[in-house]
Amino acid sequence: MKYRLGVDIGGTSVKIAALDSDFKLTEKLRFPTGENATSEEIMNNLIEHCREFIEKYEIEAIGVGSAGGIDPKKGLVVTAGNLPFRNEPVVQKLHDAFGIPVFIDNDGNCALIGERAAGECKGCVDTLIITLGTGVGGAVIMDNRIMRGRNNRAGELGHFTIDRNGPECECGLHGCLERYVSATALIEAVEKAVEENPDSILAKLALNGIDGKTAFDAKEQGCEIASKILDEYGHALAIGVDSLTHIFQPETIVIAGGIANQGQALIDLIAPHRVTSRSRVVTTSLHGDGGIIGAALLGTEYSV
Ligand SMILES: [Zn+2]
Repeated sequence: MKYRLGVDIGGTSVKIAALDSDFKLTEKLRFPTGENATSEEIMNNLIEHCREFIEKYEIEAIGVGSAGGIDPKKGLVVTAGNLPFRNEPVVQKLHDAFGIPVFIDNDGNCALIGERAAGECKGCVDTLIITLGTGVGGAVIMDNRIMRGRNNRAGELGHFTIDRNGPECECGLHGCLERYVSATALIEAVEKAVEENPDSILAKLALNGIDGKTAFDAKEQGCEIASKILDEYGHALAIGVDSLTHIFQPETIVIAGGIANQGQALIDLIAPHRVTSRSRVVTTSLHGDGGIIGAALLGTEYSV
């Protein structure tokens, strides 16, 4: 059986898996990107780990999804946030190592490609994805094509203003959607509430550490403070989702990223605040694998 190799390069780890023709992933390999690793060290590690798959499976192509600014035509990671890559010729280096076709795109586009091939927006002509993680990312497919913009940076769905009097965002705007609906924003809201309400259920749960799940767990145990935080969170996300609906009129909006693990509980937060029902809003069912599936499908009819 022939496979395609998917690679997902993130700031903290690199994931690799092979994808079969039924969109099923083989075992996954994950290795730390390395906090102080040079681009050469990361690339050498990547090649070494890809080799393990290439020796074991019949791999016909490699697709790489990476954080940051990507030039898919030139096969470069131009810049990548906390990664040391600067105009790194990832495609050329992998091609030189293995002599098979290699493709690259940004992680948001890969996530949407994976979702449209095997996930919740399967077969959609017009669709978009919002990823709720440390930041808020996204990608848009309109009329069966990925919207790239002049510099391949279109689809930054976390960066439009929902409150111009809101906090400054790293992008230069104020009150960006990201400042209200990222996991970071939710965690900050929980931290503040815990300080102000030390006797709450939320504060009790926070003793074990705070993450994107803490508020949801506290709400389930009847915590009113957590309910209020999540209602605010859902309201902001509904503003984002409805604004994107008005702009793009997608059939389906897929929510992915860490917060999407809450599934229906997250959808239930958004629903009461929505003002349009023209787009269907769902959480991903690919359990964090959308990006790697999409990467593996680069260079096929699924990546447009
Ligand atoms: Zn912003």
